Amino acid sequence: MTAINPARSDQPGRPAASLTPVAVAAGDGIGPEILAATRTILDAAGAPLDYHAIVVGEQAYLQGLTSGVPDAAWDVLRRTGVLLKGPITTPKGGGWKSVNVTLRKTLGLFANVRPCVSYAPFVQGVPGMDVVVVRENEEDLYAGIEHRQTQEVVQCLKIVSRTGCARIARYAFAYARAHGRKKVTSVAKDNIMKLTDGLFARTCAEVAKEYPEIAYEHQIVDIGTARVAVRPKDYDVIVTMNLYGDILSDVAAEVAGSIGLAPSANIGAKAAMFEAIHGSAPDIAGKDLANPSGLLLSAVQMLVHLGHTDVAARIQNAWLRTLEDGVHTAEVFRAGASARKVGTRAFADAVCERLGQLPQRLPAAAFRPTPASTLAPVAAPAPQHKELVGVDVFVQSDLTPDALAARLRSLGATKLPLEMISNRGVKVWPNGQPETWCTDHWRCRYRRTDKQPITFADVLALLAAAHGHGVEVVKTEQLYEFDGAPGFSLGQGQ
Ligand code: NAD
Repeated sequence: MTAINPARSDQPGRPAASLTPVAVAAGDGIGPEILAATRTILDAAGAPLDYHAIVVGEQAYLQGLTSGVPDAAWDVLRRTGVLLKGPITTPKGGGWKSVNVTLRKTLGLFANVRPCVSYAPFVQGVPGMDVVVVRENEEDLYAGIEHRQTQEVVQCLKIVSRTGCARIARYAFAYARAHGRKKVTSVAKDNIMKLTDGLFARTCAEVAKEYPEIAYEHQIVDIGTARVAVRPKDYDVIVTMNLYGDILSDVAAEVAGSIGLAPSANIGAKAAMFEAIHGSAPDIAGKDLANPSGLLLSAVQMLVHLGHTDVAARIQNAWLRTLEDGVHTAEVFRAGASARKVGTRAFADAVCERLGQLPQRLPAAAFRPTPASTLAPVAAPAPQHKELVGVDVFVQSDLTPDALAARLRSLGATKLPLEMISNRGVKVWPNGQPETWCTDHWRCRYRRTDKQPITFADVLALLAAAHGHGVEVVKTEQLYEFDGAPGFSLGQGQ
């Protein structure tokens, strides 16, 4: 990390050289209020940080910047390597990309770590719950590659890499080992998506063998999420894919008490970003109602990441004591159980007043620095022999399955005969079922029937013939075998 210009420090009276530079972005909606409250507490606790403000999100969008991240912000991020960020409003509709996803992916923040802890009986939630969700942060449907292909059909590509799976699995197990955790549960939908989710599940099982002292289990995402909701104490560390982790961690945070309390750390090899898991809450913005705890606990994670573990514990313990004393913001306040309902600013003041105190009933915080082993590089797998064996040609058509098959079989592609047609994944030719409802988007599978080699030129000849016969091709996917094993799934019903 390059040293940052000390002249830019915004902590008057403290020499910037003794401070760790961090970028801060207030974000949108409640962002400025909860960041101000968090800064009040950090400053009162003596956090040795040198803050460098950047602007990302709505203000950048309003200036016409579709990415939401100005060049000047990238410069600061590159120099500090650490960002404390308020929530960002993502404008609805096309043309705008999510700043959160852009930051996570551009900075290579592959691991999203979301502790979901119950503070019962002081905050309503399941007593004893202490689950850490480790969410893969860069791949899956969040690759954001979407296309409209026909009048009827749009698609979103689910991109999953072997290295991405190995890296997040290893992070989760190394995290469990470093923090004295006992069990890792991997969660995916590998019974349906056998290639993508299957790769994730298999990789987790392989990595688990390197950590024999940590119990390992795998669950399908639907039952896994349901069980987190009703029996959260059965879980310790959960490692999962991007979309499932997004949903599952919100469920876990709500079960623990409130989404307003849950922090997150986005960790990469060269940078890290810390943010609450909730959004910009436009419904309560500017009303001094927001709970700053999610962002405050994210700042605590940031201090631990930077090695400032003592000040992190000092803040966390004062915050726990504040909860115990019943000083609560509106969304966790319960008449009879809480002592005082406070706004954002008064909550921050209450935490500051308790700096130096310990919780009396909840376990006091003591942090260990996160070891470098969580970021150990993943060795590249041995390359396998890759052989082209066919092609899936996606076409738009209003014909019936039999009529479409008749036209496609007349193309004269002798090396690549038509094997199957499916519609939305279900086989409709040969021997389709009359009950199957079909849309205008067809997957037509051409595959060699013998071991005769085929080349991309054969695929191009097939496509040219299809075009010449008036077939509207909207996309193709090559079919490969890797060391003789098919790198593609069967059609449903095939
Ligand atoms: P949200 O999390 O902003 O709000 C959901 C509900 O929780 C609202 O009723 C809100 O008032 C409440 N809430 C959230 N945070 C709170 C807090 N700190 N204290 C008290 N109550 C709180 O979710 P949403 O309404 O679906 O999204 C609003 C915007 O935020 C959208 O533009 C969305 O894209 C964005 N978003 C951003 C992030 C991020 O920046 N990491 C995450 C999620 C959503």
